[in-house]
Amino acid sequence: MGILFKFFAAGPWGQICAGNPSNEIRGCDNKGCGKYGARRKSKRHLGVDVVCNDGSTVYAPFTGTIERQVIPYKTNNAINNGIQLSGSGFCVKMLYIKPVKYRGQITKGNNIGVMLPMQRVYPGITSHVHIENCNKKDPTGNL
Ligand SMILES: [Zn+2]
Repeated sequence: MGILFKFFAAGPWGQICAGNPSNEIRGCDNKGCGKYGARRKSKRHLGVDVVCNDGSTVYAPFTGTIERQVIPYKTNNAINNGIQLSGSGFCVKMLYIKPVKYRGQITKGNNIGVMLPMQRVYPGITSHVHIENCNKKDPTGNL
């Protein structure tokens, strides 16, 4: 979705990343596409990738509780961190961020962490926060 079509976040979730007020979803780049259901080798992408430059502040999309750390990769790298956030009727995993904490309350719009250096791991990719529903359903309408 380009800025011509979507000026402001339309769903119930707030802005996710500083510099991306419309929660623009990553398009396609040399590493793949960012929309829900995009192909990933033999699998499907069961989250959405919200564009976020490395080092940007990441915000809580809704008020809730950070329940635990989520580690996306078996082999460690510079972006191997994330959290599970639950509340306000939602439960999501947010990946590739260094969170401000691993447990506890957070309010919608507050600083929840910082975007990790994705370019170091995937040069040329559109850096992004991966956000997926805990039940793997399509979160696009919440953005
Ligand atoms: Zn993703």
